[in-house]
Amino acid sequence: MANYHPADELLMQFAAGQLTNALGIQAACHLESCSQCQHKVRLYEQLGGDLIDISSPVDVAPDAKSKLLAALHQQQATGERASIKSAAELSLDAFYEEQLSQANQRLPKPLRRFVPEYYDNLPWKGLSKSIQSYDLPFSDEQYTARFYKIAAGKELPQHTHNGNEFTLVMSGSFADLSGDYHPGDFVLADHSTHHQPKAHDKEDCICFAVTDAPLKMTGFFGRMLNPFLR
Ligand SMILES: [Zn+2]
Repeated sequence: MANYHPADELLMQFAAGQLTNALGIQAACHLESCSQCQHKVRLYEQLGGDLIDISSPVDVAPDAKSKLLAALHQQQATGERASIKSAAELSLDAFYEEQLSQANQRLPKPLRRFVPEYYDNLPWKGLSKSIQSYDLPFSDEQYTARFYKIAAGKELPQHTHNGNEFTLVMSGSFADLSGDYHPGDFVLADHSTHHQPKAHDKEDCICFAVTDAPLKMTGFFGRMLNPFLR
């Protein structure tokens, strides 16, 4: 059970379907294992529906009814095509499920169609011996999505952030001055965070990080690593 959760604002945006791919998938991974946040999202969804119900009526143009009827006819005419398309999408889902069911069954569901293997078999890129990364295939214009792996007992160079970094712990655990983070924990770091995360000794720590700007290393070794952390 997670001790650190996304901010209410982020959960509201999730409920309203306003998050980008990278942040949306990350939030969905946290929600899969967090009943507390699931409950909030359901409330926000309901609240969104209620707000639509009570919004004050507006003046309606005289031809609005005929336009609405025309739109409904149009929708009925295209309905058949739409259902064929969704059937194709369903079979594609089944295809992905089958293809990937062996390799990555232990990953959170929202990641299974994007990540072909479980953590051990992913083609990690070495930034150094202590830290490796795997680029997730759903970065978007605003956000970069990656897995980071901090080797057991190792710590990242001290760094701060130009923008926001949302981190979800996937396996293992790490600590910095602000806390001790375990699987399911969701942490936000920004320009005011100046930290040096250290993985616990028992196992490698794997995190799902979504950043809107590259990390900015501040220590000596950190500055040497900066060119690799783009
Ligand atoms: Zn939560």
